[in-house]
Amino acid sequence: MSEPAEPTSPRPHNQPIYLSSVWECRDPQQADEILGGRQRGYVYRRDGHPNGDALAAECCRLHGVEQGIATSSGMSAIAVAVLAVAQTGDHVLVSNRLYGKTGHLLATEFSRLGVESSTVDIRDLAATRAALRTNTRLLIVETIANPCLEVADIAALAEIAHGGNARLLVDNTFATPYVCRPAELGADLVMESLTKMMNGHSDVILGFLGGTSAVWDRVPGVVSAWGFCSSPMDCWLALRGLGTMPLRMQQACGNARAAAEFLAGRKEVERVDYPGLAAHAQHDLAQRQFGSRFGSLVTFHLRGGRSAAECFIAAAKRIPFCPSLGELGTTLSHPESTSHRGLTPEGRAALGITGGTIRLSLGIEPLDDVLSALDEGLSG
Ligand SMILES: *Cc1c(COP(=O)(O)O)cnc(C)c1O
Repeated sequence: MSEPAEPTSPRPHNQPIYLSSVWECRDPQQADEILGGRQRGYVYRRDGHPNGDALAAECCRLHGVEQGIATSSGMSAIAVAVLAVAQTGDHVLVSNRLYGKTGHLLATEFSRLGVESSTVDIRDLAATRAALRTNTRLLIVETIANPCLEVADIAALAEIAHGGNARLLVDNTFATPYVCRPAELGADLVMESLTKMMNGHSDVILGFLGGTSAVWDRVPGVVSAWGFCSSPMDCWLALRGLGTMPLRMQQACGNARAAAEFLAGRKEVERVDYPGLAAHAQHDLAQRQFGSRFGSLVTFHLRGGRSAAECFIAAAKRIPFCPSLGELGTTLSHPESTSHRGLTPEGRAALGITGGTIRLSLGIEPLDDVLSALDEGLSG
């Protein structure tokens, strides 16, 4: 990661936005040195740019990883990891509870390239170990899974992957490094959809991939050749967002815990999924792995199925129905009609999703505002 070659003096306190797609080389020797990686500097934006490097450096610091790169989206960060580690004939083992598009990427896109994948319930460590094949190169899990917020035992899964021929990639988007730093628990690769809480202002699409030097060889080349490069403007905005990420997460996690407790006490609600509740099946693991931080998402299941969810969404006027997460304010999503629309009812039921399932992404409003907005929805 390099500094811009010639900062003005005195240098601006805030990093300028470098929109230039190309840099001027002094002579062929300099071009050769930079392009050959022997000298720090920039030539062509697809291969690297100052705003991307500044953002990646901050993400590396937050995650405690040696290597990192900003990518055009969270999805491209996942694609880069697979392309860097696996090739035709290899196998990727993935959690059966994954962000929908990640499952699609493997099942529909990578399968075309001869990279096979299969799914497993990663809460069952023996089943996960048994599902590893001799050609399994990558195990992909989410720290906190969508939408019912199951928790991955990252240290145990890293050990299982390393017992075979595989690396562990952790999608940490639902946790952020405020809640969990998977590399410290043994993950080889960690990714974030910076689009979500990391940027936190719902105005960029960006990803981050970080990892240990041992798995990094092919990563920069993959980003450049496949054109997965980040946009300087988006990187600048995301770096600004990251400055307040710990403060935002602190407030949002507090709101989430209180919202989970509030919802658990309501008769309209059948079940609440939140790793911070003692009733969560993996609460002990969550405590051991996260300490006292359990994330800013809360999923709850209304009695009365789809029609109850429709009433709640209509009545909760101050909680926008935005099928994403990590905005400044509290938003909700309805998995049955959005992220898990493509599954059969039986497939959804197996993941714990009903028509009455609502996933809340808690924002940074004062807690009273959050609880009264939820009350409005339930009383509607
Ligand atoms: C949003 C998301 C992604 C994909 O990120 P994009 O930035 O939308 O490409 C991947 N994993 C999880 C868990 C996400 O929430």
